[in-house]
Amino acid sequence: IVQLYTPLGFFGTYYRMIQTSFIDMENMFELFEEGQEIKDEDEAMQLSMDAGKVEFDKVCFHYTPEKQILKNISFKVEPGQTYALVGPSGSGKSTIIRLLFRFYDIQSGVIKLDGMDISTATQESLRACIGVVPQDTVLFNDNIMNNIRYGRVAASDEEVEEAAVSADIHHRIVNMPDQYDTVVGERGLKLSGGEKQRVAIARTLLKAPNVVLLDEATSALDTNTERNIQASLARVCAGRTSIVVAHRLSTIVSADCILVLKDGEIVERGRHDELIEEDGVYADMWQQQLIESTESGNGKKITKKN
Ligand code: ADP
Ligand code: MG
Repeated sequence: IVQLYTPLGFFGTYYRMIQTSFIDMENMFELFEEGQEIKDEDEAMQLSMDAGKVEFDKVCFHYTPEKQILKNISFKVEPGQTYALVGPSGSGKSTIIRLLFRFYDIQSGVIKLDGMDISTATQESLRACIGVVPQDTVLFNDNIMNNIRYGRVAASDEEVEEAAVSADIHHRIVNMPDQYDTVVGERGLKLSGGEKQRVAIARTLLKAPNVVLLDEATSALDTNTERNIQASLARVCAGRTSIVVAHRLSTIVSADCILVLKDGEIVERGRHDELIEEDGVYADMWQQQLIESTESGNGKKITKKN
């Protein structure tokens, strides 16, 4: 780990770090088994992102030829907009996030960032302008300061603290035994799911990418934690193009557009109110969550998985 904190400029190191942070996003072992490597084209160019426009145009994708996963997916996220992906487990939400980070190449269609086909960009430049808040954040056996600094290795202690304040975890840290020097992770202080998510948010705030990808945790957080996290998540998405995989529909009521996925297809799209009006799949999901939240007894806690 120590070598990870040598000054920037060692692009290889930086690249590996970004790659690692993405791998944390899902089951690490699953991904390693894959062993699939995406290579830059010989002519690959730097992606110079300015506005942060994201475009999927008739994207088709499969992991293995026997099973088509995404079928003709098209959508366009204008700079600064927030798009939400919802749908049953296995419908392809996380796959869309992975493709945008170019974990895999697609079979047909095109994915563009600010008009540039991402398959023609260097992976380094692509991943440098995208921030990911994963479902499950992995902490390193290092102090909390360095765990947050991982978002931008060149950040000063002050900048790390600022990010921690915005992510609403500063207060928790100063109450730890050694404050910012407290070792966390497997061999240190264990943090709760909500706290780990805050670390991920702080990292992303430090990185300050144009595009933020957020895969919301499926596990239920307690109501209080959840409400506080919403504020931090809103801060990390503010002014950035954001794509959010949402499980608690209450988090996306104000999204610019909700894409409802089913078996790899977009079956509905629109704002929350429009989809409720439409009275289709999304409206059913919304009803279902209302019922579950009532059954759970406190009217807020929604425990629906995926
Ligand atoms: P969601 O995030 O909506 O739950 P995913 O995008 O993770 O769905 O998965 C979509 C489909 O792709 C599922 O059927 C899943 O089993 C399959 N899938 C996901 N990852 C892989 C993989 N690495 N290899 C093969 N199939 C996969
Ligand atoms: Mg998923």
